[in-house]
Amino acid sequence: MSCLFCKIVEGSIPSTALYQDELCYAFADINPQAPVHVLIAPREHIVSMADAVEGDRSLFGHLLWVAAEIARAKGLAKGYRVVINTGEDGGQTVDHLHVHLLGGRALTWPPG
Ligand code: AMP
Ligand code: ZN
Repeated sequence: MSCLFCKIVEGSIPSTALYQDELCYAFADINPQAPVHVLIAPREHIVSMADAVEGDRSLFGHLLWVAAEIARAKGLAKGYRVVINTGEDGGQTVDHLHVHLLGGRALTWPPG
């Protein structure tokens, strides 16, 4: 098993855990782009959003719910951004689906 985030999820590569349940694992981004930068990854290896199948629908909802719960726990009352980079044009660099939760500063738009 060569996937970086599979190794992080199962604990063989260290990370700063922020939340976990039976479906997903959330941890601090190693190169944070905002004061709060959390990655939420499913325990199951799914390459990207583009690889999702019908059976993943409830998992996708769960990942967004967890992002909202972490945002509340982090006190991001002024707002935050949730991003899922997908594929080459989407800027995805790790081929294991993950949700970015960014907050703690005013974020600009449009993204690069
Ligand atoms: P993406 O470009 O959307 O695929 O996001 C990958 C993210 O993973 C980037 O924000 C990286 O900083 C982050 N990352 C890479 N390696 C690690 C690691 N070992 N621990 C935590 N975050 C990581
Ligand atoms: Zn994986």
